[in-house]
Amino acid sequence: MKATIITIGDEILIGQILDTNSRYISRALNTHGIVVAERTSIGDNRQQIIDTLDRALAQSEVVIITGGLGPTKDDITKHTLCDYFGSTLRYDKIEAEHIRTMLERRNIAFNELNRSQAMVPECCTVLHNAHGTAPGMWFEREGRVVVSLPGVPFEMQHLIDDEVIPRLCKRFELREIVHRTMITFGIAESILAEKIASWEDALPDHIHLAYLPAPNVVRLRLSAYEVEGKEVSREIDMLFDKLRTIIPDNIAGFEDASVEELVHNILINRGQTLAVAESCTGGTIASKFTAQAGASAYFLCGVVSYSNESKCNVLGVPMSDIEQHGAVSEEVAKAMAQGAKVISGSNFAISTTGIAGPTGGSKEKPVGTVWIGVATPDKCFAVRKDCGTDRSQIISRASAYAIAMLYEELK
Ligand code: ATP
Ligand code: MG
Repeated sequence: MKATIITIGDEILIGQILDTNSRYISRALNTHGIVVAERTSIGDNRQQIIDTLDRALAQSEVVIITGGLGPTKDDITKHTLCDYFGSTLRYDKIEAEHIRTMLERRNIAFNELNRSQAMVPECCTVLHNAHGTAPGMWFEREGRVVVSLPGVPFEMQHLIDDEVIPRLCKRFELREIVHRTMITFGIAESILAEKIASWEDALPDHIHLAYLPAPNVVRLRLSAYEVEGKEVSREIDMLFDKLRTIIPDNIAGFEDASVEELVHNILINRGQTLAVAESCTGGTIASKFTAQAGASAYFLCGVVSYSNESKCNVLGVPMSDIEQHGAVSEEVAKAMAQGAKVISGSNFAISTTGIAGPTGGSKEKPVGTVWIGVATPDKCFAVRKDCGTDRSQIISRASAYAIAMLYEELK
């Protein structure tokens, strides 16, 4: 069973908002065995809605539309759908009462515009929106289903979970989609691909492999669409078992765990602790750890030491190291990690010092140069990494490398 998702709104096209609705709907459909064939974003434009709907219905049994259901003139989805299905609008008393009550609670008078929200196409099934004023609509034609939902994310989400998914499960006989992910570590994508080539070539036709690379980590996802879930899950387990024998030292875990999650779990299990000292990553690493519930069990302290003085005064980096080698250097990265470990009394510490740009680079140390320090109970070292050319990319890569290096030590 295939679905197409259409998100409507000029604000998506001009980049004012991110289309998060598509992602939510994709996940929900995937979980229930419906293959998303296409996602499209279009403007609040009648002809565009009609053309996109024509195309969507030609390729999929289910079409989910969000947006453009508000009471204002720029929201035209409902009228367009009503005409598309050759229907007329009727006044829905139940929806009208619901809208009136919702508005009363907010001290807003029920006006003509709100009245128009209670108008629904004769031919559709109304999907009651308990969290907003625009109801969802379910249309059927020639065995195909078109659902129109409000654009407001939480209203859309409730309708997907409470109304749309249960109805789709009842209406169609759905098969299953299986995705399983293995996290590999410390092996570059191209080398990994070479190593596992014969395993990959021997994959059965119904199981597809995808490589998802990140700094130091490559995720391998095996997917199977519209299959018997249990049987294929077992098959995938066996395929991963075989992979284990090919790259025994490079497997970090399974499913969608991030590397910080893996570190988090190891430190909690072992009762060991961590501190971080960040210059160019500005607290990104600390925030990745502390975003996880339970981090207080191991995360002792994070220092953002941006200036040379703070590196010396707070972390105890010798000023002579900075003067002699520069703030972005092996010596300073090591001293930062060691300093964080000492002042916090932690078992492990990591540090970053680099040039995030766009200015401040030189021939020897171009923008993107980052030294990452790691202090463990028995050693301290630093590694130089080239983290790219764009400031936000440099920050995120340096953070990922630092966490990955810590994981490598813990593993
Ligand atoms: P309303 O009654 O609020 O006008 P609506 O169904 O007309 O509801 P829209 O006008 O399209 O919905 O969008 C309402 C708000 O929902 C937008 O301001 C936007 O912030 C958010 N929104 C709309 N579409 C999306 C989307 N695809 N992804 C994320 N947010 C969205
Ligand atoms: Mg809109």
